[in-house]
Amino acid sequence: MTVRPITIVGHRALAQRTRRVREITDELRTLVADMFDTTDAANGAGLAAPQVGSRWRLFVVDCPDASGDRHRAVVINPRLERFGGLELDEETLEGCLSVPGEGYPTARHRGARVTGIDLEGDEVVLEDEGGVLARALQHEMDHLDGSLYLDRLSPALRREALDAVTQRGWRARGLLTWDPRELEAADV
Ligand code: ZN
Repeated sequence: MTVRPITIVGHRALAQRTRRVREITDELRTLVADMFDTTDAANGAGLAAPQVGSRWRLFVVDCPDASGDRHRAVVINPRLERFGGLELDEETLEGCLSVPGEGYPTARHRGARVTGIDLEGDEVVLEDEGGVLARALQHEMDHLDGSLYLDRLSPALRREALDAVTQRGWRARGLLTWDPRELEAADV
């Protein structure tokens, strides 16, 4: 099991666009295995490659859809379709492992469908409407385009979130990654 450090907002890897995968290599297989381990260690619902400092266009999810079925999957070179209206549910806080400890209501489309390939090169389709998975798919796609959910918040809330991350100590110490194995110590 290899848990990789998770990049924190401010890390340049989170602002970069990603590169399409052209070949499934052993390096890529290791990256994906490590991303699952890292997601597990951090109790995350998903993780995109830039969150472990990689530029490949892929993400993993591990979360339930609206009917409660759990989806644990990798999607390489994903394409996203959104459907249903854009909704802001004030009761549901969206969070991100790269903005550790914080969560804010974030407007998302009710439905999402992602199509891509897995490590065998087979087609993967993930679809959900109204569940955690629908939100996670939209969230992870943002990462692959170099943005964070914070970019969807009002400037005031975005500043509040950044201040909160700073106060948690990592940014104050100049750290732009954190180790999810230190989860309890980090009070996330
Ligand atoms: Zn995230």
